[in-house]
Amino acid sequence: MNQGKKLVTVLGATGSIGVSTLDVVARHPDRFGVFALTAHRQVDKLFEQCLTHRPAYAVLDKSADALDLQSRLDSAGCRTEVLAGAGALAEVASAPEVDLVMAAIVGAAGLEPSLAAARAGKHILLANKEALVMSGALFMQEVAATGATLLPIDSEHNAIFQALPAGFQRGLHDSGVTRILLTASGGPFRRKPLEELAAVTPDMACAHPNWVMGRKISVDSATMMNKGLEVIEAHWLFGLPSSGIEVVIHPQSVIHSMVSYLDGSVIAQLGNPDMRTPIAHAMAYPDRIDAGVRPLDLFEIARLDFERPDFARFPCLALAYRALEEGGVAPAVLNAANEVAVGCFLEGGLRFDRISAVIADTLDAIPPRAADSLELVFDADRQAREIAGSLVRELGE
Ligand code: NAD
Ligand code: MG
Repeated sequence: MNQGKKLVTVLGATGSIGVSTLDVVARHPDRFGVFALTAHRQVDKLFEQCLTHRPAYAVLDKSADALDLQSRLDSAGCRTEVLAGAGALAEVASAPEVDLVMAAIVGAAGLEPSLAAARAGKHILLANKEALVMSGALFMQEVAATGATLLPIDSEHNAIFQALPAGFQRGLHDSGVTRILLTASGGPFRRKPLEELAAVTPDMACAHPNWVMGRKISVDSATMMNKGLEVIEAHWLFGLPSSGIEVVIHPQSVIHSMVSYLDGSVIAQLGNPDMRTPIAHAMAYPDRIDAGVRPLDLFEIARLDFERPDFARFPCLALAYRALEEGGVAPAVLNAANEVAVGCFLEGGLRFDRISAVIADTLDAIPPRAADSLELVFDADRQAREIAGSLVRELGE
């Protein structure tokens, strides 16, 4: 019926990754069709996307919003059916018609629909790093059990995937890989005097020098928690211990990450900082398609710089390594405390330089325990949100 087209569900269609995904889809109408688009509350934006891409389904969080969107689409002659709630997210992520699931919801809310796609054995294009941080072991088990394909969208992990040997199947023991070098831009405050960090505003933190992204991940980049979450994500995706994952600050964001081999080779993936490259790579894999990205001009770039990360400036990065080494529910606790602290900072209720204290104190308050089931993970997530919430009230302004 779709003449060989791949049908795509985009979870988080109205976000930064979702919009870039739909841009790639629109460049290749012969290859891709849209099965479902989802958003949290952005009814207007989802309405426009439905008119353009004509999905079979659209999903919003609240029933009232879904009814509103349905009547607007009906009046416009668009036959998309609108659903609401978390159950509907899981349905459109696992429906038999779907080939590719772009998991691009931000935060813990993305875990359940991403897992639903894994359980249904889909090709999952994973942008939602928080899902792997919270429950990496369970997620990877589900992927292995169903034969789902997990392709990383995060530019660093996509770069690593591209630099790994062909046929690599999670677990690098026999492939001669010694280390992964995860590059980081260092964000907007790499050189800012430390005493000025207290006065950083949300808009300053969201003004990333190289990438245009959603507000939560932009703040994570400014604290380097984003890189910390990515260290944990790399651990689960590629099966290396924390000692095998090194962060390298590379302010130009041209090398998206590197893999170091026993024989001294280091293989890097380069490109302009545009998420449409990893998105197009994962969507067409193993083919290569036009992503609409400007070709890399090395003469214009002229130089590539590297620095060691400063853990005193970026305590969140150290906290992420600590959580990975602790294991069990610690990464889920780290993630939940970070979501609470960043949310509060974005609303003007917490100083930028206190985000790391909220996370550290939450980790201290929750004793280590195993993360053997989703219930245990969600329990830890809930507990961490409560503790972080009260810490934020104590430390907040
Ligand atoms: P964003 O804030 O721009 O978009 C988030 C999307 O998720 C929106 O469509 C929103 O409606 C939806 N959403 C938010 N909360 C939801 C909820 N509770 N329930 C259902 N849907 C919800 O975020 P983004 O920058 O596109 O990032 C999305 C994910 O991709 C994040 O996990 C981020 O870490 C990851 N990522 C983003 C980039 C980037 O360049 N933006 C790069 C690498 C990884
Ligand atoms: Mg990244």
